Amino acid sequence: MRNLTKPSFPEVLADNRDIWLDDYLRNPSEHNRIKYRHPTIKKTLMEETNGKCAYCESKVGHNCPGDIEHKIPVDDRPDLLFNWDNLIISCTECNRRKGTYYDESCMFLDPNKDDVESRLQHIGPLVFNKPGDVRAEVTVRLLEIDRPDGRPYLMGRKYEKLENTRGLVKSIVRENNVILKAFLIQELEVQCSTTEEYSAMVKAYVDGLPPGWANQTASPMGAT
Ligand SMILES: [Zn+2]
Repeated sequence: MRNLTKPSFPEVLADNRDIWLDDYLRNPSEHNRIKYRHPTIKKTLMEETNGKCAYCESKVGHNCPGDIEHKIPVDDRPDLLFNWDNLIISCTECNRRKGTYYDESCMFLDPNKDDVESRLQHIGPLVFNKPGDVRAEVTVRLLEIDRPDGRPYLMGRKYEKLENTRGLVKSIVRENNVILKAFLIQELEVQCSTTEEYSAMVKAYVDGLPPGWANQTASPMGAT
C-alpha cells in the first residue's frame, strides 16, 4: 500500500453528483446506484493509483479484476455514494475481504488520508502493522495480507517480484562496468516507484539493504 494523492475530481462528477444522489435517495435502484462507474470517473481514479489496487498494489486488469469501491460502505453512508474522497480503485479480492467493514472508532486505513507507508511494514511478501497500531492491524487482517495462506495467488506473485528484485540486486553488485551498473540501479529505482506493482514491498527490501551495498565486491575471485 502506498500513500496516494487524490486528483481533482472530474467535471462530470462536479456537474452531476447532487442530482445523482437525489435520484438515488428517492429511488435506490441499481441503475441509479452505479452512476459513479462513469468512464471519466474510473479513468481519473485509475490514474490516481497507476492502474493498481489501492490496497494490495496488484495491477487491475485481465489477471486481477477490479473496480471502483467505496472506502466507507454506502450501506452505512448512502450520502457518500458519489463522494469523490470516498471512491478508490480496488481489486475484487481486497474489496471482498474489506466487505462492509465500518467502525468509526477504528477506521480501515485510508491511503489518501493516512500515512500508510509509515504504518505498515513489509517482511518478504507479507505486510504487517506496526506494533500497537490497531487500525493498521484491522486493515492487514481483513485484507489477509499478513498470512501466506490467506491470499496464495497474491503471495505467489509478490514472491516472484521479490525474487526478480533479488536477482537485479545481485546483478548490480556483480557488475563492474560503471555505466552498466548505473543502468541497473536506474532499473531498480523504477521498480521502487509508485507506478510499479508491489512497489512498497520492493522499496522496503531495497531500503533494508546495507549502506554501500551496490559497490560491494561480490568476491575477491571476481575482482580483476
Ligand atoms: Zn487488492
